[in-house]
Amino acid sequence: MRDIATIRDEFPILQRTVNGKPLVYLDSAASSQKPQCVLDAIQNGYGQSYSNVHRGLHTLSEEATDAYEALRGKVATLINAPSQDEVIITSGATMSLNLIAQSWGRAHLQAGDEVLITVAEHHANIVPWQLLAMEKQIKLVAAPMEADGSFDLQTFKNYISPRTKLISVPHVSNVLGTVYPVAEITALAHEAGAICIVDGCQGVVHMPVDVQAIDCDFYVFSGHKLYGPSGVGVCWGKMAILQDMPPFMGGGDMIDDVEIGMSTFAAPPVRFEAGTPPIVEAIGLAAAIDFVLDIGMDVIRAHEADIIKYAHQRLAAVEGLNFIGTAAGKSGVVSFTLDAAHPHDISTLIDQDGVAIRAGHHCAQPLMKFYGLNSTARASVGIYSQRSDFDALAEALEKVNRIFSA
Ligand code: PLP
Repeated sequence: MRDIATIRDEFPILQRTVNGKPLVYLDSAASSQKPQCVLDAIQNGYGQSYSNVHRGLHTLSEEATDAYEALRGKVATLINAPSQDEVIITSGATMSLNLIAQSWGRAHLQAGDEVLITVAEHHANIVPWQLLAMEKQIKLVAAPMEADGSFDLQTFKNYISPRTKLISVPHVSNVLGTVYPVAEITALAHEAGAICIVDGCQGVVHMPVDVQAIDCDFYVFSGHKLYGPSGVGVCWGKMAILQDMPPFMGGGDMIDDVEIGMSTFAAPPVRFEAGTPPIVEAIGLAAAIDFVLDIGMDVIRAHEADIIKYAHQRLAAVEGLNFIGTAAGKSGVVSFTLDAAHPHDISTLIDQDGVAIRAGHHCAQPLMKFYGLNSTARASVGIYSQRSDFDALAEALEKVNRIFSA
């Protein structure tokens, strides 16, 4: 493997300073930084092979189409999908979840049916179900988490009822870092006659994913958290389920034949990709997938596990710091509060030392309310993170403590 210093050198932004200090970027869960190969792919996509895809018969359109379409095969390799035709290219995880709700949900859920999630969902896995509930009178049920942020399968099981038709859970919580047992959850869903969606936004970036081993029905994620551009994401679904789903948006590309009276629709995945897609964004994401596969998802997981363990040890020494989420095997994020200061003040003050973390509800307001909080500070890691980032964070937090005790 390339050592971490070499990998860091591939991210131009990590060379810059912020407020006169070297940048310490601990906000990768919100969006990761981009390696040079992704920047080059974007530059090349616009600078050398750009045209609209699918409809052209000239060289540039064919090159752009091939490069855009190549993303499906890369995604299939990354998540071990049986077929690249099961890979729908979307604008991001939020669109992927809305697509499933508006297409599968509208077609298959009836009044009284239940959708089961947990209290730890990102709003993107809550609000699409609420919008559908307003229209279809379905019920949204949220299972609790444990006090330490862990997920208990037995507790979760109690929330499955004969009316449960869909279970949708994160692979990894974006606030707690808890890794959900998604294969076991999928097995419970299938036993109950429900389908299972895995929101893989914070999963696919940190660990190997095998959708066939998980056996989930959908796996969704966003490109910008996986070292790729924003504006592109993935909705992977089992082909038999996709074939049984109506289009969710109408327009160019997604049709077979159009009459003024009625149209027939293309087969998946194109059925769900109406209009000009995120062409160069998809090309950038394909480069990002090459980048992580070249390093190896096992290597990324091991490196980040070491950083997360060190982060907990180092931050535990900061006076008045309380961790939010300490489940065994957690991944990617370290959420905390500080007795002395509000998370927003922490984030603003440590930015003066070049340390970038996120503070707020992290688009997980029900989880904040569940733990009686309105916000947390959150440091999150990527492949370029290093132990010294958490030394810098701990020192900056000690400074915050000194400011507030003065
Ligand atoms: N799900 C999880 C777990 C997330 O962390 C995020 C983003 O933070 C999303 C969904 C939504 O992703 P996007 O805003 O890229 O669509």
